[in-house]
Amino acid sequence: MQGVGFRPFVYRLATQYALKGFIRNTSSGVLIEVQGIPSLLETFCSRLKSDAPPLAKIETMEECTVATLSGEGFMIGDSSADSEVETLIPPDIALCSDCRSELLDPANRRFRYPFINCTNCGPRYTIVERLPYDRPFTSMHGFSQCPECEKEYHNPFDRRFHAQPNACPVCGPSLSLIDTAGKSCTFQDVAAEAAVLLKMGRIVALKGIGGFHLAVDARNDAAVRRLRERKGRQAKPFAVMMRDMALAGHFCELSEGECTALTSAEAPVVLLKKRTVEGLSPSIAQGNDRLGVMLPYTPLHTLLFDEALDVLVMTSANFSEEPLVNEDEEALLRLKGIADAFLMHNRPIYLKCDDSVTIHSSGSLRQIRRSRGYVPAPVYLRENGPVVLGTGGELKNTIALLKGTHALMSQHIGDMKNFEAYRHFQHVAIHLQHLFQAVPELLVHDLHPAYMTTQWALRQERPVLAVQHHHAHLASCLAENRDAGPAIGLVLDGTGYGTDGTIWGGELLIGDAAGAERFASFESMPLPGGDAAVMQPWRAALGYLSRSFSTMPDLPFMKERSIEPVLELLQKGVSVYETSSCGRLFDAVAALCGMQGEITYEGEAAIELMLAAGGTMGHSAFRYALQEENGRWIMMVSPIIQDAASAVQQGVSASEISRRFHRTLVTCFSDIIRKASQATGIKTVVLSGGVFQNVLLFETLVRELEGAGYRVLTHALVPSNDGGLSLGQAIIGRSCLAGHYRGIQ
Ligand code: ZN
Ligand code: ZN
Ligand code: FE
Repeated sequence: MQGVGFRPFVYRLATQYALKGFIRNTSSGVLIEVQGIPSLLETFCSRLKSDAPPLAKIETMEECTVATLSGEGFMIGDSSADSEVETLIPPDIALCSDCRSELLDPANRRFRYPFINCTNCGPRYTIVERLPYDRPFTSMHGFSQCPECEKEYHNPFDRRFHAQPNACPVCGPSLSLIDTAGKSCTFQDVAAEAAVLLKMGRIVALKGIGGFHLAVDARNDAAVRRLRERKGRQAKPFAVMMRDMALAGHFCELSEGECTALTSAEAPVVLLKKRTVEGLSPSIAQGNDRLGVMLPYTPLHTLLFDEALDVLVMTSANFSEEPLVNEDEEALLRLKGIADAFLMHNRPIYLKCDDSVTIHSSGSLRQIRRSRGYVPAPVYLRENGPVVLGTGGELKNTIALLKGTHALMSQHIGDMKNFEAYRHFQHVAIHLQHLFQAVPELLVHDLHPAYMTTQWALRQERPVLAVQHHHAHLASCLAENRDAGPAIGLVLDGTGYGTDGTIWGGELLIGDAAGAERFASFESMPLPGGDAAVMQPWRAALGYLSRSFSTMPDLPFMKERSIEPVLELLQKGVSVYETSSCGRLFDAVAALCGMQGEITYEGEAAIELMLAAGGTMGHSAFRYALQEENGRWIMMVSPIIQDAASAVQQGVSASEISRRFHRTLVTCFSDIIRKASQATGIKTVVLSGGVFQNVLLFETLVRELEGAGYRVLTHALVPSNDGGLSLGQAIIGRSCLAGHYRGIQ
């Protein structure tokens, strides 16, 4: 990878031991040739491994003896001849400890300089316009280095040797604080001034590495509520940034894996179990047992915190994703009425990139939103193949570009129904191809004809392939586990277009990237109003009840709603969609338990239902049944709904209903997987789809399947939700180009 300081490190090491030779990048990795005194060669080799810069990870090292060289000294070789390795651009990297010490050292020339960085840290992906990764092709091109910075940049013994964004207060970018009228106010220490505003409860828009955040003091409830009101965000939890690890450990439970994730160079948001929320605004993540926490990852963040300001709500304020439009002016325009002040800087952001969101469960750190810090580091594939682009889904969109053995995945782009996100999608799709100098032989899109991503693919005048949504989920999980399959794929999510035109989402597929058999699915249920039911779980509940009962039972949740028109729709079958969705099943059960009938973000009701279980499964389960129908197994939903409804009528608590419901699902899935395994002899199980963000369901199922002797493949590197879809699509595309594609049978 470029920009991680490996070659200068090797140069310094070789020079130190007076070794002759060179270092060069090749398509199969880094090639180093050295000659010198044998004992020193040995030390060189061992230090190569032990002292490598933090971002340069050596996966394997092979040694062999070659003929001696003529020539003098040690050279950093020209690698332009081979582009495979060279074209990797590193992600944006959190402030390193060396830079942090300098930042806080009054004697250092970069004391409190908010743009301090070095070879081991700083912005990368978001400032690169094109290759090669050289300063003129980054958004630093407008800043020429002062003599002192220049000296560091050219000195192989300096930590800033070839650090492209190298800067100092004399020559680099600077901050400005702008009021709501757009007037720039000058201060000696702009960051300190912004901190004062935050302490006063003001909402400050912060321009960061990958875009804008709205920040507010997380201890000030009035301020947090004001932010919710102004942003029009009612319930969706906010992420917070905490001053240090000690504070994170005070508010949240911290496992070793979670500590590692928080302090990693990627510095993602980690969803941590709450320990105490005393002192924090209750409006941050109400009703949730977890809190999204990250640590300061830029020098600017570090400068904002002190004794009196130690936790900030930090929520993304990204909007238009046009490249190099005047983003500052646009921020002023769009965030007017939300932010009380704007902390800006004059280093342009070439590519917007949100914070990554992760969770540590079943022993691994798992991506929920893979963005800053991880993108565009490749996901390594088991096989080489042609260049293919997967356009992703409609929600939580990402794009995947396969090149050689690398899957280059874009940052989280978002909801394609949002026009700005769609523009960002178009930009990123083209940018990825330019950046990695790869022209796809095939564009792969979702089977859904109306998806924006489908329409885009069809307009590109290139070969295209439509791939079924859940098949892509299965292939995605196989791909990130570098497994060829076949596997038994349990894919559970909210919505995916099926080959029969109905909405799928509770599927057991058996197969691999080339094709899969729909071995089992949930019983089809009527969804009145289609997409409208996603945000109104009470509608789903009515649909599910109407199919499960011949006469509608009387349940408390119906009293607050005007159910008649919906029942009429169901009766007449007007705008009623058939679905085997698992997400909707969660919604229906949540709603009939009397939980929120209307939600503000997808999955809210399902989360509430999971939380009601309080982290434990029930011992008794609802009835469920597996029925064979036209050569396919149907996991019957109606007995579950019948039992859940009568439990509600008997006054069983929502917590107990949730526990029994979860237990029912685990038993049902275990049973159908056993049948699939017996029918095929396959012992590998893939778990994919957004429903597996349900930690209770996920962890229990993994434990029980592993206990039963299955090899269970799960998502960790890419999200199990639709953010991982593009990878699966692209992999399926490769099997199509190889002539193996069969699709869903
Ligand atoms: Zn650094
Ligand atoms: Zn300088
Ligand atoms: Fe999905």
